[in-house]
Amino acid sequence: MSRAYGIILPAVLVLALAGCSGEKGGQQSSDQSSAPADQTATSGPAMVDAARLTNADAEPGNWMSTGRTYSGQRFSPLKQINADNVGKLGLAWHYDITDGKHGQEATPIVVDGVMYVSTDLSRVKALDAKTGKKLWSFDPEVDGAWLLHVCCGFINRGVAVWEGKVYVGTLDGRLIALDARNGKQIWSVQTFDKSRGYAITGAPLVVKGKVIIGNAGGEYDARGYVTAYDAETGNQIWRFYTVPGNPADGFENKTMEMAAKTWTGEWWKQGGGATVWNEFSYDPELNLIYFGTSNGVVWARAVRDPEGNDNLFVSSVLALDADTGEYKWHYQEVPGDQWDYDSCQNMILADLTIDGQPRKVLLHAQKNGFFFVLDRVTGKPISIKPFEKVTWAKGYDMTTGRPILTEAALYGKRGKPTLLQPGPAGAHNWQLMSFSPETGLVYIPAQQTSFTYSSDKGFVPKKLASNLGIDQSPVTPVDDDGKPVTAPEAGGSLLAWNPVTQKAVWNAKHSLSNNGGILSTAGNLIVQGTAEGNVEIFRADNGEMIWSTPAQSGVVAAPMSYEVDGEQYIAVSVGWGGFTPILMHSGVPVNVNRVLVFKLGGTDKLPPMPAAPDRGPLNPPAETGTPQTIAAGLHLYHTYCATCHGMTAVGGQINPDLRYSAALGDKDLWFGITSDGALNAGGMGAFGTELSHDDLLAIRDYVIARANETKDQ
Ligand code: CA
Repeated sequence: MSRAYGIILPAVLVLALAGCSGEKGGQQSSDQSSAPADQTATSGPAMVDAARLTNADAEPGNWMSTGRTYSGQRFSPLKQINADNVGKLGLAWHYDITDGKHGQEATPIVVDGVMYVSTDLSRVKALDAKTGKKLWSFDPEVDGAWLLHVCCGFINRGVAVWEGKVYVGTLDGRLIALDARNGKQIWSVQTFDKSRGYAITGAPLVVKGKVIIGNAGGEYDARGYVTAYDAETGNQIWRFYTVPGNPADGFENKTMEMAAKTWTGEWWKQGGGATVWNEFSYDPELNLIYFGTSNGVVWARAVRDPEGNDNLFVSSVLALDADTGEYKWHYQEVPGDQWDYDSCQNMILADLTIDGQPRKVLLHAQKNGFFFVLDRVTGKPISIKPFEKVTWAKGYDMTTGRPILTEAALYGKRGKPTLLQPGPAGAHNWQLMSFSPETGLVYIPAQQTSFTYSSDKGFVPKKLASNLGIDQSPVTPVDDDGKPVTAPEAGGSLLAWNPVTQKAVWNAKHSLSNNGGILSTAGNLIVQGTAEGNVEIFRADNGEMIWSTPAQSGVVAAPMSYEVDGEQYIAVSVGWGGFTPILMHSGVPVNVNRVLVFKLGGTDKLPPMPAAPDRGPLNPPAETGTPQTIAAGLHLYHTYCATCHGMTAVGGQINPDLRYSAALGDKDLWFGITSDGALNAGGMGAFGTELSHDDLLAIRDYVIARANETKDQ
């Protein structure tokens, strides 16, 4: 199972995405779209400007960007709901998201009584924040075939607002401005080349009239970059690439020339990676935008860069001038990353006293298990300590700022399948951490993961699957003597971390990994949803759990808090999503996708939990494969299918369980779907350009074999 938790595999046999259409109103919501009648361009909803965003602390009742403030602390100054009265917390309203069942990852934002939230496949809803009544919804109608370019889920992580507009980045690369009054599209720009392997799941950030957006694709075929667009017109203002292109084409700037000195080989052919797929932070005084970059394409450095260099700016934190996009500094957290240790986790800006000195810091809990405190003026590390068990590095050399690698870390050189902690799922992934200025603690949705790294000696670049350079078949890790090693149990925790002393203050264990992001409040509260399907509240100072309620689904999104008419609310999107639930499959309960909103004395009730769909008995066709074709099918399945249909081809609450597919017994139907794209609209890609009929039959042989193996279980 640890491998299942740890791996980020490729695309995709997403069969029919049932339930993807037909918006159904929730308990207190309805389909009546009701844009306010008296709105004008200067006084309508979402009238957010630079002054309001910069002074967000002056409006504790609003949550105007995904991190609430530009510092991204995700701390609410509201304290009507607090550790003394939280027992009176009840459901104020809930809103059913019925046009997507793949989980929810976005933090809702609330401006002047209106909630804006994005869902999977980049859809957007506007809800009355007091009642949950739907005001409007927007569907960008993402082409289902684009799911082929997404390694790890296709759920959008949030919107931005500015001067009456709502901005969303779509999976297929559009940045769209919507009219906040009615959800109508005002402008749309295509932000990437659709012949490459890009996608967008991250939230934009608006800074002084510029919409900043990145993209994903570091497992596919992508050269990372960040772009600023004019919020009014959609015109491009600046673009900053995170890795150099082909030197023969010349460099865009001196920074790219510098970065190119850290690469050898022909990295540009697959883009190099270092994509910017998650959040941005901004310091208005320094006028700097901060973000992290992903791993390089491909993961295995021996394949990516024959000489084994650092590969700037892979797995790095970068600071750019907000007006010009000009490079200011970088700090590479994982030089020459070969473990998928993306630096894309949210980064929090805070002012702390360290060694008696006031410091402007950037706080970052990396996938790789280390907590970084950086000077955000210069990018220099102040302290770096592990917050989870780490076996790939002994620590960091603070003179050079580089990790001190263990021997095992260099799995390519070791030449044996090598178990390392954490794995690509990370000790902390994209789920958003929070900082409370009241306790001085960072609250991390941490997890314990591992992965077996084994170089793929026969690596061939692919278009329709991840390019990892890693053997993606199940591999048994071994010690130096060749004896099998047992992977540790995966799990999760809510970790309260002191960034000054770099020590844990308290730690609440969860039974599963892949839990939700964090909200901290001035009411001494820490709010987190869990993979097991609860919303839980802890005392911020000592970690005592003081409230919990069933969410009827796993939660990965971060909660937020706001106020309307003098009442404080706590909101969270529920629905377990991302690659872990899909890979795990059998552990996934029915996903009921909703926005849940709580207040003191709330009396709303959720309807009973829906039953899991009854598929009837598993009745697969007789075996069709030979041991050879089944083995070949397993390898192809893991390369092309597992990220959507699960590591073991079992399960399927989020995406179809292939063991039940009617196409298993009908070769023509199988080819129609897998080769020709009969279910493209639902998100199941066509693999005919990359996989032969023999390949596709081998996959079918493997799935039939799995169905027969598991039919009596
Ligand atoms: Ca990655």
